[in-house]
Amino acid sequence: MSDVRNVIIIGSGPAGYTAALYTARASLNPLVFEGAVTAGGALMNTTEVENFPGFRDGIMGPDLMDNMRAQAERFGAELVPDDVVAVDLSGEIKKVTDTAGKVHEARAVIVTTGSQHRKLGLDNEDALSGRGVSYCATCDGFFFREQDIAVIGGGDTAMEEATFLSRFARTVTIVHRRDTLRASKAMQERAFADPKIKFIWDSEVAEIQGTDGKLSGLTLRNTRTGETSALPVTGLFVAIGHDPRVELFKGQLDLDPEGYVRVESPTTRTNIPGVFAAGDVVDHSYRQAITAAGTGCSAALDAERYLAALA
Ligand code: FAD
Repeated sequence: MSDVRNVIIIGSGPAGYTAALYTARASLNPLVFEGAVTAGGALMNTTEVENFPGFRDGIMGPDLMDNMRAQAERFGAELVPDDVVAVDLSGEIKKVTDTAGKVHEARAVIVTTGSQHRKLGLDNEDALSGRGVSYCATCDGFFFREQDIAVIGGGDTAMEEATFLSRFARTVTIVHRRDTLRASKAMQERAFADPKIKFIWDSEVAEIQGTDGKLSGLTLRNTRTGETSALPVTGLFVAIGHDPRVELFKGQLDLDPEGYVRVESPTTRTNIPGVFAAGDVVDHSYRQAITAAGTGCSAALDAERYLAALA
């Protein structure tokens, strides 16, 4: 029997496990590299997920991912908790190298490595993540009804998150380290016109404070004068950008100007025949578990059709 696989999937969030489920059910025997440290993806680091359809009462992020994993495994997906450290996607047979240096070969590769939200890099940030500190207003806004919230950032995402959050919150304070915004004019105007949103300019977060394991306030530092001030908030939304995990693919896959893998939308085809990409490594506008799972399904079907055409 040839050692060349039909499909290798790199990454194990909602996109990767959904691609694994579909390719396994299509009898393509997928090999899935789940990642050495963060198997299960971004939702392993969160608590309640209330917006994944099918779970009326919500589900804990790690439980949702365990379910997806088990469902893919049930149909025969081979799951490996290891990182891919190199790829050669150029030929008809793609080569994928694991951390032990072993080279795995496949006719199709599905890239679902996700993206990493940028952090402030402060003490308490990780400990209070999911306990007042958030990186996604769509995911968590609902938990902050009638609360005072800070949004950090000055780009389109920060304005969009603040405007969205003002539906729920009592007040939203946008903290920006400069005195002008990077956001588009339209997004700025929407934020300026919102009576619940106020701005603190020329300021950055110096400290994050917690009480009884929950966020209770911030210390801000003026970037011009160095003066500090207290901002009592129970919600902190960090909106300073995301970095798609594309290091492995640079020089092989076409990336868009923001560094995300470029696909022939609405398909998941990349510039290289036989290589497909899905989830947050492609998507800089929706970034939800359900959209990642949806495009993971598309990638599996695209790969299946590609392989059928080769046969
Ligand atoms: P990810 O989930 O990021 O998974 C990518 C995987 O690829 C990771 O496991 C990573 O280890 C692996 N990987 C990367 N590089 C390699 C490599 N070289 N080799 C092997 N593996 C690799 N969305 C919602 O819909 N609802 C929510 O309530 C919600 N809450 C969130 C809370 C938090 C704290 C965060 C951070 C995100 C939240 N999101 C939520 C967003 C959601 O988690 C993402 O949109 C989704 O996980 C993206 O899925 P993905 O499969 O594209 O990537």
